[in-house]
Amino acid sequence: MTNNLDLALHEFNYSKNLRREFHQFPELGFQEFRTSKIVAETLSSLGYRVITGIAKTGVVGLLPGKLGSPTIMLRFDMDALPVLEKNETDYASKNLGIMHACGHDAHMAIGLTVAKILVENKDKVNATIKLVFQPAEEGLGGAEAMIQADVLKNPKPDYCIGAHVWNEKPLGWVGLSAGPIMAGADTFEIKITGKGGHGGHPHETIDPIPAAAQIISATQTIISRNLSPLENAVISFCSMNGGTTFNVIPDQVTLSGTIRTYLPSVRDTVIRRLEEIIQHTALAYQCQADLIVDSVTPAVINNKEVVDKITQPISEHISNIKIDTEIKSMVSEDFAFFLNQIPGCFIFVGSAKSDKALNFGHHHPKFDIDKGVLPIAVAVFLEAVEALSASQI
Ligand SMILES: [Zn+2]
Ligand SMILES: [Zn+2]
Repeated sequence: MTNNLDLALHEFNYSKNLRREFHQFPELGFQEFRTSKIVAETLSSLGYRVITGIAKTGVVGLLPGKLGSPTIMLRFDMDALPVLEKNETDYASKNLGIMHACGHDAHMAIGLTVAKILVENKDKVNATIKLVFQPAEEGLGGAEAMIQADVLKNPKPDYCIGAHVWNEKPLGWVGLSAGPIMAGADTFEIKITGKGGHGGHPHETIDPIPAAAQIISATQTIISRNLSPLENAVISFCSMNGGTTFNVIPDQVTLSGTIRTYLPSVRDTVIRRLEEIIQHTALAYQCQADLIVDSVTPAVINNKEVVDKITQPISEHISNIKIDTEIKSMVSEDFAFFLNQIPGCFIFVGSAKSDKALNFGHHHPKFDIDKGVLPIAVAVFLEAVEALSASQI
């Protein structure tokens, strides 16, 4: 049996060059035109059947397997962020104000390297490989748009695998666990309406500012008093806007933020209590309040059977890695939409630079990865494909 990490290391330059190429020319969600052209051309030259223009810029590469073999979908996201890069590397962003600050450039490089190795070992791959290059992961609805464009049909995948380079953890760390691993995300907006007036005559107004302050304080008890200490949830107020100057009481204050939960029952409790506290507090302060909650993504829930199938081969066949089966994050990922329909899992692959002073988190203007993550992540995908197709590469 060929060692998948050796195959990946053999293609290290191929991965690195692709990643540098993508990093220099980042594009925002649903505008990944240059990026998806490179992806499509590379897949095509490798011999994949390529479909382009799915949900605008999405690309699918198909490598048909033997009749009756499973279809395994591997997903890689393509979009960058509206961040001004502060790195001064020779491969820094050339598109001003746009940056691959989350590592999706690495994901595409990993995906195309996996594509190359799989096609070169095609006779040993006992599966149909469906490579999905997705636009607009960063909260813009790329996964949903691809599903609406029937990406999960013809052929329907039996399994789906996704991964993220992860600067929170060092090289060699792999986060792989069953069940909920990333939170579902909702956004909320609260409008508190009173009656404005002169700051020196507050008794002639209905001041929405103390009502807003009380609402922010009171909602902190939802997590500490209404949820079990063993359940996970986040409520973060991330913006508050009201008033324009120091001596005018405003008519309205707007608050917005995000809710993160793993379980639908916990989400329901949080939203119900939020509504109750907002309405009753506003009433106590003679104001009116309106709450709008919008779901962004459900929680990422890894399928236990898939995790069980791939964990041992990954830990046994890839040298110098350690699997963390307890990984959980309150960050969200729209891969959740694929996992809602197809059994699969999402894997984190440690990519932090060993020098802590040079390591920056995802979405930071100085974000960069330790390139050593590229072959590790490639090997993780190859091991997953091998385990799920019960084939040998
Ligand atoms: Zn991100
Ligand atoms: Zn990301």
